[in-house]
Amino acid sequence: MNIQTCYMCDEPAITREHVPPLCLFPEAKDVLGLNLRNDLITVPSCDVHNSCKSKDDEFLMVSIASVVGNNFLGYLQTQTKIDRALRRKSKDFLQKEIVRNMQHQVIKSTSGKKYPVLKGNPNYERLEKCFEHIAYGLYMHEFGIKFNGNIKMLLGFVNYNDPNTKNMMGLVKEKFETEEKPKEIKGKNPSIFKYQFFEPDAFGLIGLVMTFYGGTEIFVAFQASDFKDPKNLLAMELIKAGIPTFVDMGDKTFEFNTKKE
Ligand SMILES: [Zn+2]
Repeated sequence: MNIQTCYMCDEPAITREHVPPLCLFPEAKDVLGLNLRNDLITVPSCDVHNSCKSKDDEFLMVSIASVVGNNFLGYLQTQTKIDRALRRKSKDFLQKEIVRNMQHQVIKSTSGKKYPVLKGNPNYERLEKCFEHIAYGLYMHEFGIKFNGNIKMLLGFVNYNDPNTKNMMGLVKEKFETEEKPKEIKGKNPSIFKYQFFEPDAFGLIGLVMTFYGGTEIFVAFQASDFKDPKNLLAMELIKAGIPTFVDMGDKTFEFNTKKE
């Protein structure tokens, strides 16, 4: 018999893990009885990589449900499930675990309504770890094998201060929109989560866009471990080294390292 191994490592799987985590999908009682838990994806998982046991799922839910630009369901999730979760926490939970340099602000909608929002720096490292797990899980679900290699990602909702990273974000979005060959958009609850893989590009990179609550986009590139850096990636090395570099993509040109900060 074929023993299944974990979606993240080579240990035997003893359980199944929801991808993305179950808690991101609202419970019917919180969304006027809507069923937003249709055919959720699960993948085989070892004990260590079953995040139900960690606090990462909740961290992810609190971090992304209220991202500006999300749909109304993200807002409802914030007002119900997240509100209940936060009431069980200590007062400084948000400050300690979710956002650093947190400030309370009030923003005005176009209709003049005022909403209290929290502003601050999200915990990028921890967020990336959460999204990495989801990307690995989706890869296994899509291709039936564990991914071996490196993944790179950009968080579409983050306002990167560094001009290079900002430009890189533009470049990646442009690349996904113009160059890559998309497969079909998947996800049985698209208002909560949908994803789209792309055919491997000329360098063997496989792209993935994940969209949460209609507005939070994560761009992922899977780079297999047998992947050899092609010469065309030289541009990336130049950018990293701080050398002024221009990259053409579609009919746009992206500049790196050209402005003195
Ligand atoms: Zn594992």
